[in-house]
Amino acid sequence: MSRLVIKIGSNVLTQRNGGLNAKRISAIAKEVNELAAGGHEVVLVSSGAIAAGMGKLGFEKKPTDIQLKQACAAVGQSLLMRSYGRCFRRYNRKVGQILLTRGVFSYRGTYLNAKNTIDTLLTFGVIPIVNENDTISTDEIKFGDNDRLAALVAGLIDADKLFILSDVDGLYPDDPKKNPQARLITTVEEITPEIEQMAGGAGSVVGTGGMYSKLLAAKRATAHGIMVHIVSGRTYGLVSAVLDGKKRGTTFLPKEQRISSRKGWIAYAIRSKGYIVLDDGAVSALVTGGKSLLPSGIMRVDGSFKTGDAVFCVDAAGTQLAKGIVNYTSEDIERIRGRQTSEIESILGFKYSDEVIHRDNMVILQ
Ligand code: GLU
Repeated sequence: MSRLVIKIGSNVLTQRNGGLNAKRISAIAKEVNELAAGGHEVVLVSSGAIAAGMGKLGFEKKPTDIQLKQACAAVGQSLLMRSYGRCFRRYNRKVGQILLTRGVFSYRGTYLNAKNTIDTLLTFGVIPIVNENDTISTDEIKFGDNDRLAALVAGLIDADKLFILSDVDGLYPDDPKKNPQARLITTVEEITPEIEQMAGGAGSVVGTGGMYSKLLAAKRATAHGIMVHIVSGRTYGLVSAVLDGKKRGTTFLPKEQRISSRKGWIAYAIRSKGYIVLDDGAVSALVTGGKSLLPSGIMRVDGSFKTGDAVFCVDAAGTQLAKGIVNYTSEDIERIRGRQTSEIESILGFKYSDEVIHRDNMVILQ
């Protein structure tokens, strides 16, 4: 038995005119039900709310105005769930709606709540269907795209595999529509800058929802120790085929070491609020010595943050070496930096701990 997150893109679920593609949803429900009946725990991350709402509200193109997109999402999300509900009912299987915002991942409490709810639904054999809560997510607080949301959900629930069902059948070195010679890349061992370039690279027009955002999601999930598969969502049965050991789409191999859900939360879910600049001694204590961060090795503090916030630890050149949860505010760290732990109490008038960041609350970045 394995835990699977299956992300389904809007292009897979909707028709050209914006309405939902009922046949496709029906086929997805059939396959997902078979997987669940076979003992797999399946969580869907489904787009398609805005596209479904567009049709109902009479938009031919996706509106650019955020209010209009939110209105479409409000109408479309319920249509989407109704459609999934109807298809899964044929197999007597229930679905549960989980709408998340970026903020949910930033706080340990809401993060764990979301995790517990999904875990509970899975114990009931329910298929959780996740989407972004588009009606209240404005641009500044958005995930950006559902590929990223799916990678975060995979980390949240400690998934074994993340499947990204797309309108393309995997990663190609060149656009297969323009270059018929281009051959599908079946396995990616490491997402190098060259691979990123193939997918359009940063700042490319392919951008949101394109191959580049899928690659970033794959990078995030594989770093977590989760295997990622990008397969076509337009062909029936590809998830099962991959699980049966067949080669379909592009497989991204996970990094060897699987990180715990808590360390994954620190590394990928919670947002950094600032930087702590380390001297050379602290750099090697953290990176090779496996030590906690003490005030003595801190040269500078950038940004304003509170106890419990996440920050990046950087070297003098600005390279991000680690990310961790601080035990002191930025103002307090400013006062104790460069000093011995024995001096903390006399300087601040209190002491929470010797460490500015405890090793258990820190992830070393590669
Ligand atoms: N949450 C959006 C929707 O359901 C989709 C975002 C995306 O596809 O990346 O319409």
